[in-house]
Amino acid sequence: MRSSSTSSNTPAESHPVETFAELLARVQACTVCAAHLPHPPHPILRASPTARLLIVGQAPGRRVHETGIPWNDPSGDLLRQWLGMTRETFYDESRIAIVPTGLCYPGTVKGSDLPPRPECAPLWHPPLRAAMPGIRLTLLIGAYAQAYYLGKRRGRTLADTVLAWRDFAPDTLPLPHPSPRNRGWLKRHPWFEAEVLPGLRERLGTLFPAGDNGDVPNQTE
Ligand code: SF4
Repeated sequence: MRSSSTSSNTPAESHPVETFAELLARVQACTVCAAHLPHPPHPILRASPTARLLIVGQAPGRRVHETGIPWNDPSGDLLRQWLGMTRETFYDESRIAIVPTGLCYPGTVKGSDLPPRPECAPLWHPPLRAAMPGIRLTLLIGAYAQAYYLGKRRGRTLADTVLAWRDFAPDTLPLPHPSPRNRGWLKRHPWFEAEVLPGLRERLGTLFPAGDNGDVPNQTE
């Protein structure tokens, strides 16, 4: 597949026509914010021109940075539980793209991950999305993904945004971050598991037709 893109990590360049592989190679070679990263740039994403579901999270943590596998941590385990997917289905990049708001590990301060680098999403999400025309549903996981994609459409709090999930249908669905640190949030907002997760699974069931939905359940319980 060839994709059109005018985005570049070097403004003087232009890439009017490039293959998906060429675009991915440009992403993997990015050094735009290297001076602000704790390690040499290591963009971590999974994408293909046939993907139908796009998962947008925050940025790789240390463990993901070291393994090169996105959501390869307890947060990923809970996310797969929410989605009703095995690892095999989740990592089938022909159907599921995983592109965080910041592609490289930004480091930590006082034990907490730093925010995604602000240069990253405006630089790489537009060309990647343009090269994945089959995306039908984008999951916005956590405040940074929601800030980038929803802007002023966000609610006052993350809970307000997630509670209004139907307002963003059918192409977008905001979710809280499935970090173990968010267990308290999940307990305080029982409507998330009772209403949002069944809605999410129902939409996944329509996204991946019968016989092509891996282990994504069609039922809503
Ligand atoms: S975080 Fe994004 S902008 Fe910065 S070096 Fe990595 S890919 Fe490039």
